[in-house]
Amino acid sequence: MKISREQLRDNFIVKVEEISGEKISACYQCGKCSAGCPMAKEMEILPHQIIRYLHLGAKDKALNARTIWLCASCHSCSSRCPQSFDLSNMMEALRLITLRAGNLKLRPEEISAEFLKKAPQQAFISAFRKYSN
Ligand code: SF4
Ligand code: SF4
Repeated sequence: MKISREQLRDNFIVKVEEISGEKISACYQCGKCSAGCPMAKEMEILPHQIIRYLHLGAKDKALNARTIWLCASCHSCSSRCPQSFDLSNMMEALRLITLRAGNLKLRPEEISAEFLKKAPQQAFISAFRKYSN
C-alpha cells in the first residue's frame, strides 16, 4: 500500500516522533529488527509491523497491540537497524501516550496483599516504571 504525505504528517505520528525522538518515516520495513527481537516469539504483532501500522495511520492497532508492553527495551533492534531507528524509544512513546490517556495498566490498589509479600521489590519498581505514569 502506498503511504501518502498526509499520513506521515498525521498529528499522532508527530506526537510519537516528538516523544520518541525517532523519525517514523525512516523505517523502510526490512524486518531486521523483528528478526533479532528476543521477545518476538511472544508477540502476535512484530515490532516492524507496529511501525507499519503507524505508516498506514492505524494508530489504534498500534496502541492496542500487546507488543508495546512486551518490548523489553533491550535495544537489540536498534543495533541491527540499517536506519539507526530506535524502536525501544518508539515503544516507550506509545506506552506513554496510552498511560497519559488514563489507560493505566497497573493500579497499586488492585495488587493483592498476598502477592505483595511474595514479589521482589525490583519487580515492583520496574513494573511501576513501565506500567504507570
Ligand atoms: S530494522 Fe529498522 S528499517 Fe528495518 S524494519 Fe526495523 S526499524 Fe525499520
Ligand atoms: S527493544 Fe523491544 S522491540 Fe527492540 S529488540 Fe528489544 S524487545 Fe524487541
